[in-house]
Amino acid sequence: VRDQNRKTSQLAAKTTDGHAVEVAANIATAADARVAVENGADAVGLLRTELMFIHRPTAPSVDAHRDSYQAIVTALEGRTAIIRTLDVGADKEVDYLTLPPEPNPALGLRGIRLAQVRPDLLDDQLRGLVAVQPHGAVRILLPMVTDVGELIRLRARIDQFQREAGRTDPIEVGVMIEVPSAALLADQLARYADFLSIGTNDLTQYTLAMDRMQAQLADQADGLHPAVLRLIAATTQGAAKYGRWVGVCGALAGDPVAVPLLVGLGVTELSVDPVSVPSIKARVRTLDYQLCRQRAQDALALESAQAVRAASREVWPLD
Ligand code: PEP
Ligand code: MG
Repeated sequence: VRDQNRKTSQLAAKTTDGHAVEVAANIATAADARVAVENGADAVGLLRTELMFIHRPTAPSVDAHRDSYQAIVTALEGRTAIIRTLDVGADKEVDYLTLPPEPNPALGLRGIRLAQVRPDLLDDQLRGLVAVQPHGAVRILLPMVTDVGELIRLRARIDQFQREAGRTDPIEVGVMIEVPSAALLADQLARYADFLSIGTNDLTQYTLAMDRMQAQLADQADGLHPAVLRLIAATTQGAAKYGRWVGVCGALAGDPVAVPLLVGLGVTELSVDPVSVPSIKARVRTLDYQLCRQRAQDALALESAQAVRAASREVWPLD
């Protein structure tokens, strides 16, 4: 099966009834980008840029940002890359970020909130991002957005940097949906964003109030919990109001039990570990989209993650 999956992995993935699902890769480096291409990733759905910022004495320059994203775009041979702006906070070791430790770093100055105290870090990253060639090769993704005001402010900033760089074509800007408030306000966010990308790792953590690093809670912190599923459904419904597409870039996208339900809720891009791309594409090809839609609606009424998992496995057995 593995060899068969590898052979077909370069082809687009469609359900048996012809519904297309993009299968993209989560990466951090140009080397990862090459692995993603080899494994048939249609795009990069999440480039985590934290590596750019940690383990170095000073913040990266605009040119350092541009060069590192440019190398990744080159390695992708025409595929697009969704590049997430910095998502570091008081829990990461960043020498030049002299922030006081926080009692709850997961609830603190992380993601775009860091720009409240260090706007220079995000500004330089955005300037580097808008300099990448060709235009259209990269899309910007903003982490830890909680409402529309943050998005509007950052879009204005991105527009300003684009004008300064002499770019006239707008760069696409998307929002991570990883905080319950963002999922609940997805329709408002979709009005101003080009796409939404659900980060199920944090969305699960914040919805269930279960620390994603707490090993004892790992089994219970399940993204197929009906409360998380309802927020995913709210996200795709909100996005549909403005004709935006929704991806999932958290670990749930690479879970074969979750894939039919995510597709059924209207998610059209699954971004997974590069080596998982062939098996997730193969999984999509076994599905009937109309059946996924029906069963995903049924799953929203179930009362536990275990019940959702059992229902999925009954309809779509794992081989
Ligand atoms: C997520 O929260 O699901 C996500 C993709 O982001 P990260 O794992 O980097 O927090
Ligand atoms: Mg996250």
